Amino acid sequence: MRGIAILGSTGSIGKQALQVIALHPDRFFVTALTAHKNAALLFEQVRAFRPRLAALTGEEVPVPSDLSFCEFRFGPHALEEVAREALGPDVLAAVVGVAGLKAVMAARQSGKRVLLANKETLVAGGEMVMAACPPDENGPTLLPVDSEHSAIFQCLQGAGPNAYEKILLTASGGPFRTWAKESMRAATVEQALGHPTWSMGAKITVDSASMFNKALEIIEAKWLFSARPEQIQVVVHPQSIVHSAVQFRDGAVIAQLGAPDMRLPILYAMSYPERLSTGAEELDLFALRHLTFERPDTDKFPALAMAYEALRQGGAACCVLNAANEEACFAFLRRQIPFGRIPEIVRSALDRHGHLPARDLSDIDRADALARETARRLLDETPSARIT
Ligand code: NDP
Ligand code: MG
Repeated sequence: MRGIAILGSTGSIGKQALQVIALHPDRFFVTALTAHKNAALLFEQVRAFRPRLAALTGEEVPVPSDLSFCEFRFGPHALEEVAREALGPDVLAAVVGVAGLKAVMAARQSGKRVLLANKETLVAGGEMVMAACPPDENGPTLLPVDSEHSAIFQCLQGAGPNAYEKILLTASGGPFRTWAKESMRAATVEQALGHPTWSMGAKITVDSASMFNKALEIIEAKWLFSARPEQIQVVVHPQSIVHSAVQFRDGAVIAQLGAPDMRLPILYAMSYPERLSTGAEELDLFALRHLTFERPDTDKFPALAMAYEALRQGGAACCVLNAANEEACFAFLRRQIPFGRIPEIVRSALDRHGHLPARDLSDIDRADALARETARRLLDETPSARIT
């Protein structure tokens, strides 16, 4: 039995993690759960999974009397406290945004294994997070949950160090893959949220539409697999069946295939190196008929070039890219800016703050804050007439 704390249990990843835990009650139990604002669902989850610790990182609310077996914490610091204090060896980081960074560091400081869905943490603090996650006597202490990175990790099992030439990072291309650049600029929130293959939280769905999700994943892959930027090739694959592939020195390409269902990478990280049933249907190759692959349109999606640029720049450039994108993405979701402004705002933040250093957490906090300040100023300058 392994105990697992789920940070962000009320989100898309968090809920699917609880589904797979419920399928394997003989293997996993929940040590802690956290949500931001959704107290009603958090209470329901605490009732069903009976953790000893829970947190709501937003405002304090009264706790129902039947949940007195569980200790509740409130406020932004509660996330780190839960990551540090939860009993049991594993923490699933499934909150959205860089809000997860300090909690991931706290989990590692208390010796826990981190199962990482929260890619923004690795994008903002990659060097620091990786330094905190060396393998120990039981194997890796940081396991990827993001489907592409889980796929790459699976493809690399048994491969020697530095055996690969290239990572082929697949991307669905999102809802605007076939749209003209000009129509995409004025896309509505509803159109951006209409992802063709994956059902996910709002931020990552908008990131998939702008391809900032793939930009973040390029950076995530660099840190997880010690890849040089030129070793990471984005491949647009609209069916989302090949979750990524690795090309080896001898020319062999090993890919991981599966239905677009996050329960597999979530459960693989939890049960690694074992494989357990996810309860999902088997992939039917005969029903697939065809799988297609395209080069990304780097003119329509400037996010990709910005990721390579930020990686080459180093320091806090990736943190700046992430912070500005978080601000722009949520502003778009609030209908404050048009879709086309997202990459423009990130571009400006990178130009202004991309040179900042990232030696420690305080450098990262500073770069994050400056990038957000610049992004917010640009949001305010957006002429409202352009908003759809
Ligand atoms: P959701 O928006 O569905 O869920 C986010 C979770 O984090 C919720 O539990 C939410 O609580 C909580 N939360 C929100 N803001 C904060 C905050 N400021 N501090 C602490 N907790 C907060 O997101 P997803 O599940 O889609 O994504 C989670 C992470 O996993 C992201 O980093 C995403 O990029 C990554 N990921 C997601 C995939 C997916 O399929 N969804 C696939 C691959 C990666 P509340 O419900 O109370 O608001
Ligand atoms: Mg992904």
